[in-house]
Amino acid sequence: MARFGGISLQRQRAVELADREPVRVNYPQKELIARLLADTCEICGSRGKEQVHHVRALTDLAHAGWQPSDWARVMLHRRRKTVVACDTCHDRIHSERPARPLTQ
Ligand SMILES: [Zn+2]
Repeated sequence: MARFGGISLQRQRAVELADREPVRVNYPQKELIARLLADTCEICGSRGKEQVHHVRALTDLAHAGWQPSDWARVMLHRRRKTVVACDTCHDRIHSERPARPLTQ
């Protein structure tokens, strides 16, 4: 009969299987989820249909010689790479020129 690591692979019909209950850990709610559930634009304060704007790194927003706009100031102040924004503010963010030239 075949064996695996010293255990016989012969079928045992009378064996009772006792699976352990998985340990369920209650993780605290992620901060971004809580911010989204607040359903409030973090830039203008309006409510409803919020979206999340995301940048790769805060350093993209904080390089020398550039005056950060209102949304960038919110992100820099909170030290977050995300900002929850309404439709209007999100469109405005994307209509502005990039913080750093794309060729860098
Ligand atoms: Zn807004």
